[in-house]
Amino acid sequence: MKKSRMSKFKIEIQITLLAVIIAAAVITSGYFAYKSLSKIVYSIHQETGPDYKLFTIKDIAADLTELENSVRLYILTNKKQDLTPCNTLQKEIETKLTNLENIVAKGGENLALADSILQLSEEKLQLWKRVLYLHKSSRDNQPDFSELYSKLEEQKVDTVTTKVEIEQKGFLRKIFKGKKVTTTIDTTYIERDLGTKEIKQEIENLESEMIEKGQRIKVLESKLIEKNIQLTEKMNGFITEIENNENNNFIAKTNEADRLATLTYKRLAAFAAAAVILLLVVLFLLFNFMRKTRVYQQALKKAKAEAEKLARAKEQFASNVSHEMRTPVNAIYGLAEQLLQQEINENLEEQITVIARSASHLKNIINDTLDFTKIQSNKLKFDAVHFSPADVFSEVITLQKNEAENKGISLAYNTGNELPDALVGDPMRLKQILINLVNNAVKFTDNGKVSLDVKTSHNKDKYLLEIRISDSGIGIHKEDLKHIFDEFVQIENQSGKKYSGTGLGLAIVKKLVEMQNGTIHVASEPGKGTEVNLSIPFAEGEKDKIQATTFVAARVPAHFRRLSVLIADDEDFNRFLMKAILKKWGSRFKEVTNGTDAVKAAQQEHFDLILMDVRMPDKSGTEASREILAGNPDAVIIAVTATNEQLDKKSCMAAGMKGFLLKPFSEKELIEAMTFALKSKTQEQSGKSPKIDLQEAKRLANGDEAFLKEMTALFIKSTETGIKDILSAKENQNRDTIAEACHKMAAPCKHFKADDLYYLLKQLESAVKNNQDWNTLNNQITALKEEIHEVNTFLTEHLDLKY
Ligand code: ADP
Repeated sequence: MKKSRMSKFKIEIQITLLAVIIAAAVITSGYFAYKSLSKIVYSIHQETGPDYKLFTIKDIAADLTELENSVRLYILTNKKQDLTPCNTLQKEIETKLTNLENIVAKGGENLALADSILQLSEEKLQLWKRVLYLHKSSRDNQPDFSELYSKLEEQKVDTVTTKVEIEQKGFLRKIFKGKKVTTTIDTTYIERDLGTKEIKQEIENLESEMIEKGQRIKVLESKLIEKNIQLTEKMNGFITEIENNENNNFIAKTNEADRLATLTYKRLAAFAAAAVILLLVVLFLLFNFMRKTRVYQQALKKAKAEAEKLARAKEQFASNVSHEMRTPVNAIYGLAEQLLQQEINENLEEQITVIARSASHLKNIINDTLDFTKIQSNKLKFDAVHFSPADVFSEVITLQKNEAENKGISLAYNTGNELPDALVGDPMRLKQILINLVNNAVKFTDNGKVSLDVKTSHNKDKYLLEIRISDSGIGIHKEDLKHIFDEFVQIENQSGKKYSGTGLGLAIVKKLVEMQNGTIHVASEPGKGTEVNLSIPFAEGEKDKIQATTFVAARVPAHFRRLSVLIADDEDFNRFLMKAILKKWGSRFKEVTNGTDAVKAAQQEHFDLILMDVRMPDKSGTEASREILAGNPDAVIIAVTATNEQLDKKSCMAAGMKGFLLKPFSEKELIEAMTFALKSKTQEQSGKSPKIDLQEAKRLANGDEAFLKEMTALFIKSTETGIKDILSAKENQNRDTIAEACHKMAAPCKHFKADDLYYLLKQLESAVKNNQDWNTLNNQITALKEEIHEVNTFLTEHLDLKY
């Protein structure tokens, strides 16, 4: 037991540990997988998010190119409106450069390159600002020829308009891919005026000055353009470098993400494999545990089944043994009872009394043993019938009175208050308890008295029977009192006197009391006596519902003499006992030794009652009864058995049997069982006349009422005379006269169809002729006398005759 609990704990610890390991592995692997995945996600975020640094750089580079184009357009057109985009772009570029400066200040990758690009961009911006400035200043500082032209106009000379074309060379031409760009200046010379020459000269000077300035600007511009080219190349180089770096960075990050993903997969795979392995281990342990549990359970089931089988076998054994014992005890007990009722000499009576007592004692032992096995297997059932408690107590006292008287002790019965008329419960079990206790009290008391005191208290719908059985006997020692209710305990007494018993009595009593929700307590003092107090609750009963059959007196009902009985029993003793009783009553009977013959006999002949042994070879009593009842549902069958099994009782009743008689039975018990069974049949067939078939007499009278009455009066008279003759012949022990009287009466009985009376007459006639003993003859004569009286009373009542 301890070991199996230990192994149960062991498996529980193993499973718990494995579950903890699995949980830890899941958490750890989950944590690592989460970390790897978040790294991948972070890098994806990084890569998919815009690279503001490179984006701003490219934006600035694009703006610078646009500024370059805008400045060139403005230089070409010289229109003010084309200057506006240049200014706007400058401002935008400045703002973006500030942005880039801020981005660079935050740090990150490619910082040096970005910083260089920032500087180059600023340089480029300044460069284009200078170009614009140069151009603006050259345009603003252009000499004013208008004054000179006005002077020439004033000379009023033929005016020749000369178109002066100033070819613009240098970087502008380069920009416009070598197209010839000319500036046209209209000059008017007043040829004939003297001042014309000077004005011309001035114009020429101005022109050459302009050209010179223009060339200077061109040089400057071309330098700036060259610088711009260098800056642009440098910047592009840096941008490319940043792009490459970014690209490489991206590839590196992709590789890192790949690596992390591979790592994560590996970890997840390892985790999954570990989890699967652990799960398999857990499953294995679980299945193994379950398999072992199943094996244990099967072993337990098997052991339980075996124990139950053993218990059943034990019970069966006890039942069989008690059955085997009951059968001969039944015969001994019954026959001794019958013998004691006969006229026998004193010496023989004494010996037969010993046989009867021993059989009765043996019967009690058998009953105790059976009750004990039933209590042990929880099969003891309690009736719930209406009964009179007073009847139970007085019966117990009556039963024990003789024994007490024989021992010279008084047996008193007192009721403290009035007992209720009826209670509901099991009177037989109450009687059993009381008989046991009073019997013990009488048994263990040699002088003084034994008293049975009863009190009742009423609580709600229950009555509490408070019973005290006290004696002035040998008493019980304090240490023995503890074991008094133990099974098989018989206390050794100091006097060395032997007392009979099984040691089961009090154990059964205690169980019986407790099973009826009662309590029992024993107080005793050695040498002074013993007092047993018990109380059992019973529901209130109804007087009208008390079954009279429970306590009928052992008087043989008169009509038993007319009965025709079939005895079916394989045991010679039992048949012998039955026959002895039935013979005494004057009943007709037939005997068979097995079930098949019982069925045959019942089919061939009518029987008022069938006493059927339950356990018979070839066909059981139950089976035979079923067959008999199938052909004749009115048949009255009483089961006679040596087992008091509830199942036996049930199956007998289910088969349609009307009563149940337990061996060994007393004559009184047989009368009770038969009265009950026949009463139920008579109740079923109420109205049917048991005495005589008047129809037959009426048929003989052929409707002549006067003749019928006369014929009936004659019948009554002849039977009266006949029985008188028989009675006086009995006194003289004159067998012939009896036979003759019987013979005379038989014929009219046939005519009146008084079958029972006819049978009794024929029975007595043959008994006389066969020299039967006077005991039997006396019984038969008494039966005949009673039957004649009953028949005649019946006839008088039914035909309105004076009797
Ligand atoms: P048994 O059937 O042997 O009498 P019980 O179970 O009835 O067995 O009683 C057990 C024992 O208790 C008896 O053997 C006896 O020693 C003792 N005992 C029972 N009742 C009394 C009593 N009234 N006075 C003295 N001893 C008693």
